[in-house]
Amino acid sequence: MRKIGILTSGGDAPGMNACIRAAVRISLSHKIEMIGIKWGFAGLIRGDMEPLDRRVVTNIIHQGGTILGTARCPEFQTEEGRALAIDILKRSGIEGLILIGGDGTFRGGTLLSKECDLSVIGVPGTIDNDVFGTDYTIGFDTAINTALNAIDHIRDTATAHDRLFFVEVMGRHTGFIAMESGIAGGVEELLIPEIPMSIEDLCLRLERNFRGGKKSAIVVVAETEQPGDSFRISKEIKDKAGFDSRDCILGHIQRGGSPTARDRVLASKLGAGAVRGLLEGKGGTMVGEIKGEIAYTLLKDTWEKKKRLHPDLENLAKIMSD
Ligand code: ADP
Repeated sequence: MRKIGILTSGGDAPGMNACIRAAVRISLSHKIEMIGIKWGFAGLIRGDMEPLDRRVVTNIIHQGGTILGTARCPEFQTEEGRALAIDILKRSGIEGLILIGGDGTFRGGTLLSKECDLSVIGVPGTIDNDVFGTDYTIGFDTAINTALNAIDHIRDTATAHDRLFFVEVMGRHTGFIAMESGIAGGVEELLIPEIPMSIEDLCLRLERNFRGGKKSAIVVVAETEQPGDSFRISKEIKDKAGFDSRDCILGHIQRGGSPTARDRVLASKLGAGAVRGLLEGKGGTMVGEIKGEIAYTLLKDTWEKKKRLHPDLENLAKIMSD
């Protein structure tokens, strides 16, 4: 293999740059040229690309976002759009392609690898951690630490005012961010899609907490289809049980920022693992880390199979919040 392309796609995540850096340096050490494709699949279709050398990836390991830019690209969901991309890849002599992104990116990657004879390998880069085939995704650790920092701040105010707070975190359709930031922040309740709780049950649990002597409480809410749902929930709680509360939606601050050490190390391992995977003929897979070991999972399994919350964490959250 003489030329590899790399792109970042979908939502940005802290650590994407560390991953690009590792992939570039490992490729160059094998005398393979690395081509950076700008703006995800959108840039690929336009042929917006440039060679990446060691200098380009200097001093980026600590930066959030992605030096390549990212985008959503509806055109890539059409066969015509992907045919344009395949044509560009062939004409530019790219033999292997690294896709850093989330499940949407890997849906596109699965189709791309079916429709051409190029080696395509995925790297899980999303704060949501909702990708099957890796214990953690790049960006998740930074996001939960950002959320935790916010929860700690809110705890001060909640305690000072004897108040109930709802804190809404990201996570798309999953409760990974809510679960881990909630456990770390010692929050009283978690509202996540994996463990449904009715408003009545939440009221009862909060009442029990307050009867037991607590004067303030924090409920972490995982965003659902409709970010902002925590406003509705806190209003219903007020109408039903009379608890006055405040809401805080953390939003996009969870996506940015300098990656944690853990994310930088994971990103470096997976960036290197992606290049090695291409060299070892593991196209059509995603490189991840399972129980501390590099593992390759079929691209289609990464989005077809559902990653579950660890049952130990679910049990822990239940016991700790009592
Ligand atoms: P993420 O990769 O973070 O989950 P998205 O869901 O926005 O982000 O997906 C990123 C891009 O992947 C989309 O803009 C689109 O170009 C491509 N993509 C997503 N779903 C599909 C699909 N079903 N078929 C082909 N391409 C897809």
